[in-house]
Amino acid sequence: MNYMDLHRIFDLQYQASRAQVDVPVLVRRERLLRLQKMLDENGEQLCTAVQQDFGVRSERWTEMLDLMLVRNMLKHTLKHLGKWAKRQRVRTPLMLQPGKAWVERQPLGVVGVISPWNYPIQLSLAPVITALAAGNRVMLKPSELTPHTSAKLAQLVAQFFAPEEFCVIEGDVGVATQFSGLQFDHLLFTGSTAVGRRVAQAAAVHLTPTTLELGGKSPCIIAQDCDIEAVALKVAYGKLVNAGQTCIAPDYVLLPRGQELVFAEAFKAAVQRLYPRISGNPDYTAIISKRHLARLKQMLRQAQSLGAQVHWMHEAAAPAADGDSTAWGDAVERQLAPALVFGTTGEMQLMQEEIFGPILPVISYERIEDVINAINASPRPLALYWFGNDEAERDAVLTRTVSGGVCVNDTLLHVAHDNLPFGGVGDSGWGAYHSEQGFLRFVHQKAVFVQSRWAATSLLYPPFGEKFDRM
Ligand code: NAD
Repeated sequence: MNYMDLHRIFDLQYQASRAQVDVPVLVRRERLLRLQKMLDENGEQLCTAVQQDFGVRSERWTEMLDLMLVRNMLKHTLKHLGKWAKRQRVRTPLMLQPGKAWVERQPLGVVGVISPWNYPIQLSLAPVITALAAGNRVMLKPSELTPHTSAKLAQLVAQFFAPEEFCVIEGDVGVATQFSGLQFDHLLFTGSTAVGRRVAQAAAVHLTPTTLELGGKSPCIIAQDCDIEAVALKVAYGKLVNAGQTCIAPDYVLLPRGQELVFAEAFKAAVQRLYPRISGNPDYTAIISKRHLARLKQMLRQAQSLGAQVHWMHEAAAPAADGDSTAWGDAVERQLAPALVFGTTGEMQLMQEEIFGPILPVISYERIEDVINAINASPRPLALYWFGNDEAERDAVLTRTVSGGVCVNDTLLHVAHDNLPFGGVGDSGWGAYHSEQGFLRFVHQKAVFVQSRWAATSLLYPPFGEKFDRM
């Protein structure tokens, strides 16, 4: 895709969006049904493409965490679209009666979507579903780090959609940079906070409104009264899905002082139950690239050199046990074993950056008050997890901290709830999608007041003198 193609497709979509401002619900529904058909007929091919990009990533994970989420969102959107798209009547104050008023939910025009590599289907198509449902044209730029998935998406979308409806733009960071400079009516970006800042700056040139779905360090608080074994299993599950390469993965654990040993043993047992071996295990996703692996190893080395203790959850990487793994080549070397890290400090890279891998620092605390203060002194996280039974403590944490979302007594699941918006706050982003609130992100809510034939407001016209004297 060269610069000219990018602009040609944008112009095509822009002209189409201006020529047909009102996109009937029937047309939007038909587009969503086409997307559904595309996934139904090609799910397997998409799973294979993701597997090729990661080297090791079970098709079951992709089916569950990419395709199922997107399919559920499609179903939910199709079910509620009629109601979401309708004009919304509002009550009229006495002074303006008998006039009438409503809010018109209009398509914005052309929406751009930039997506990351970690859930390359879900994070590409979920925003597209909502943008199409809202009656927009969509251009999608998926990540260059998942080239097989991006190429497969581009091929399928071109087969099922006209370029002026929905189009995939493949390419490297250079293309992504040009893409973020187009004069979109809205731009949704999912990725790192650092790149999010650049995207927001590029969009500001055209006053393009943005939704930024960014990352961050999501804390996982374990209260004093927990069943540590049960909690450790849930934390291990949430942390190790996609080998920790999940924007809402618990980034670090806050544990009552004195429970370190119990937690370490319970976490190790949980990891070994979920993943009896690491190397060659098809369920355990590889780190996306050698560069990303090197970054994680470097973080561990730095933490150790500054006095942290690293506990590997598997003694030694077991040799690959089935024939399949040989076909994965060097991807098996990118299967990084999970590790707990104790004794971390704020000067360590591990506690300064989002980890985005299977490494879990554990920080001990004395009082929940200290936990709340520490979270409030850090950049606002995308997710926050709290495990416990005391509702007063739960509510103190909920009301006195700010995060994109919260999941109580489990991990990750708030993202799968159809009626909850999903988004960050502060450094973890702005704006949210998913649910009706996400739909509102991609429409213009136009205020309409319709005056009646007889209007009391005409009594307020000048000349004022005598009329107001009599009032
Ligand atoms: P990234 O920021 O490196 O890249 C994301 C996308 O931005 C890619 O498609 C890339 O091509 C594009 N890009 C790169 N430079 C650009 C530029 N200058 N201008 C415009 N686009 C540019 O992120 P990543 O490594 O792909 O993903 C990991 C990050 O994404 C983590 O921080 C993670 O927490 C975050 N993330 C957030 C969510 C969420 O929903 N909030 C979901 C998944 C991942």
